[in-house]
Amino acid sequence: MTFTFDNSYARLPERFHARLPPVAVKQPGLVKLNAALAHQLGLDAAALGTPQGLAMLAGNQVPEGADPLAMVYAGHQFGHFVPQLGDGRAILLGEIVAPSGERFDIQLKGSGRTPFSRAGDGRASLGPVLREYILSEAMHALAIPTTRSLAAVTTGEMVYRERALPGAVLTRVAQSHVRIGTFEYFLARGDSDALARLADYVIARHYPDALAAERPYLALLDAVVERQVELVVHWLGVGFIHGVMNTDNMSIAGETIDYGPCAFMDTYDPATVYSSIDHGGRYAYANQPHIAHWNLARLAQTLLPLIDADTDTAAKMAQAMIDAVPERFEHAYLKVFRAKLGLLESETDDAGLIAGFLGAMAKTGTDFTNGFRALCDAVDGSDERVRAEFSDPAAFDAWAADWRARLARERLSPAKRAARMRGANPAIIPRNHRVEAALEAAVEGDFAPFERLLEALAHPWEERPEYAAFTHPPQPHEVVRQTFCGT
Ligand code: AMP
Ligand code: MG
Repeated sequence: MTFTFDNSYARLPERFHARLPPVAVKQPGLVKLNAALAHQLGLDAAALGTPQGLAMLAGNQVPEGADPLAMVYAGHQFGHFVPQLGDGRAILLGEIVAPSGERFDIQLKGSGRTPFSRAGDGRASLGPVLREYILSEAMHALAIPTTRSLAAVTTGEMVYRERALPGAVLTRVAQSHVRIGTFEYFLARGDSDALARLADYVIARHYPDALAAERPYLALLDAVVERQVELVVHWLGVGFIHGVMNTDNMSIAGETIDYGPCAFMDTYDPATVYSSIDHGGRYAYANQPHIAHWNLARLAQTLLPLIDADTDTAAKMAQAMIDAVPERFEHAYLKVFRAKLGLLESETDDAGLIAGFLGAMAKTGTDFTNGFRALCDAVDGSDERVRAEFSDPAAFDAWAADWRARLARERLSPAKRAARMRGANPAIIPRNHRVEAALEAAVEGDFAPFERLLEALAHPWEERPEYAAFTHPPQPHEVVRQTFCGT
């Protein structure tokens, strides 16, 4: 027995999903098994690596106790409502309860056509599968909530995009795959019974504390707001740009989900966009809090009838909560960036101090990750490293005077402060040029760069000489300007 399933989502009414097994593939081949994650989930990694385990990870064999299904949802894509989306290339095998007591979805992504595939082939190609593997595991190492990757397998089949590419299946692990768009699906259909069932399900699974509140559905909204705000400010803290913050790509549990054309920024520029489909910059780096706010308003709308039977009362309460989102962002943002600057306490002009450092970086085209990391060394006055990150070091010097004056008002030894800062400013992020190079090699059959990149990303806070190359920004000819969904 490999999995011990307990499938709560499958027990929801039929209109929540379509039951079907994954579509078998020609010749499963194991690319990567995440043994550490398997262990954490209470799974037998050795069993998963056997031909029988591989058959399950490829979708060729449905494990005992699974209740495979495709989830239905809707969503606002780039601001436009699409009343029905759903898992078009994914199958939820079921849920397992880890030894920690936490419940996780086990999903195969790239598992073939479903009733929600529309024109798609239901498949994924190796590059995007490994991209999600790399980025989600990097995100986890950065201590940012995210879906995880348990395995990547090849299918022995080709998928046809702009060119023929090797097909692959990712085994994704998530707190759940319920999205803001899942709520929107039932609202659009006027199915208030399903909305109540879904909200109760989400409360029971993710936000049990809301049950004790005077208004559990308002408490649910409040809790989702909290997790979304926390998530997005942590993205900002590491220079992450999700790229497709459509409401169908926003997890109700507040995890980073659906790694498509996402990217970590190299040079700091708040307007940075990588996604090839984001022409207007809707999902640009600095716009992410505004989009999360907008998405949360879409969720609030779906909960109105549950919040209060009286429409005006419900609308007032929800609106007040949504109106407070920017303030909550401001607060959470300051917390993250204070830590990055090494500040323990809060002072009224911290926002200005943070903006000052970012502004100097923007002006001189400083690398976001390395600028902050180098700042850790400057706590005791050793400025060489951080000054070298600025094409015009005077821009740093001008700002640093205020920073030092601010640090001097807090009692903390430079060594301790620097150590804390090194826990808030990663040395290693999945740089686009490194990710692309690893994927290109993998598609040609060489998985060594992929493995080495994963190793480096597993220790983002450490500066080890053997991984020094992974801290380097791209050379001009290596710069990746655009990323693609690859769907
Ligand atoms: P995404 O933007 O990747 O989150 O996908 C949006 C919608 O398109 C979801 O409903 C996906 O299931 C669906 N989709 C993406 N790629 C495919 C594919 N290759 N085949 C079928 N459906 C897909
Ligand atoms: Mg999606």
